[in-house]
Amino acid sequence: MFNLENIVRPNVLKMKAYSSARDEFKGAASVFIDANENNLGSLAGEGYNRYPDPHQKKLKEKIADIKGLSPKQIFLGNGSDEAIDLLFRMVCRPGQDSMLHLRPTYGMYEVSANLNEVQLDAVQLTPDFQIPVLEVLRQVKDTTKLIFICSPNNPTGNLIEPESIETLLDNFDGLVVVDEAYIDFADVPSWSTRLAEYPNLVILQTFSKAWGMAGLRLGMAFASEEIIALLDKIKPPYNINEATQELALKALEQTEQLAYMIEEIVQEREMLVQALPSLDAVEKVYPSDANFLLVKVRNANRLYSYLLEQGIVVRNRSSLPGCEGCLRISVGTVDENQLLFQAISNFK
Ligand code: PMP
Repeated sequence: MFNLENIVRPNVLKMKAYSSARDEFKGAASVFIDANENNLGSLAGEGYNRYPDPHQKKLKEKIADIKGLSPKQIFLGNGSDEAIDLLFRMVCRPGQDSMLHLRPTYGMYEVSANLNEVQLDAVQLTPDFQIPVLEVLRQVKDTTKLIFICSPNNPTGNLIEPESIETLLDNFDGLVVVDEAYIDFADVPSWSTRLAEYPNLVILQTFSKAWGMAGLRLGMAFASEEIIALLDKIKPPYNINEATQELALKALEQTEQLAYMIEEIVQEREMLVQALPSLDAVEKVYPSDANFLLVKVRNANRLYSYLLEQGIVVRNRSSLPGCEGCLRISVGTVDENQLLFQAISNFK
């Protein structure tokens, strides 16, 4: 049986959340000399001399509205990379606990595991990039606190079958983290609609992809109120800066433009899926539910260097087990995709 208290690190359970004088005082004030800010003003722009809201109240309310969740089910991080790291710090005792992920997948799970001295167990995805569930369950140990699942998966682009995720949620007593960084490009509901069923489910999403805000660093975790309270307790107090909070609030008003961009990207993705296999250099384009394609090519290393010479940067994934001979290519603009196509067609 999953019991949150059993898996959270004892020091985290004992900690008290950081609180500022502004959290404690109730009522009106006009003189703020509590936080050692510069009260003369800011050289960067009005208001930036003040620390940002550590609880990101307005932003969480707005996101909750859009996602159909309660603000208490939402954690905001400095990119979802920060949420990944805090999940490790929340449940994994350095040098003692372990996590499990599926390969090939997003590199940050491993980086965070190493940084936090967490043992890493990895299970290879099947040839069609799905989870061998029984193998995963066999690998789970008493010390396994986290399983990371990326769906749509980076770098393979595919969604993970929901039945596999359900089986892991039902049979694993640690946290199952479903990283949905690319979910906006897939035509399926988010796992956030299933939160009420699974107390051990954590979902990650980001503003870096469909929302086009990679430079602002804003990621989200959705989970039970208890898990979110713990993440909020251990985060750096001012992890989301004021400019990001303001700009994200504005962007969140533009849901129509968001839908338009997603449609455009998905359309271009499907165009590339159709067109690329006609090129001599291309052996296979894997189906994708994300904003990138995994493309198996002849001479991946040579094609990669050749594209660089043409001023086109793609990601060479050919040395990753499971992605041999593959490049990962983000869907660009219509013009960029045309340039890519031309360049590959001229490759000898
Ligand atoms: N998860 C996945 C699967 C990703 O591919 C990425 C970024 N490439 C992230 C998380 C991190 O996103 P963020 O910019 O929110 O830190």
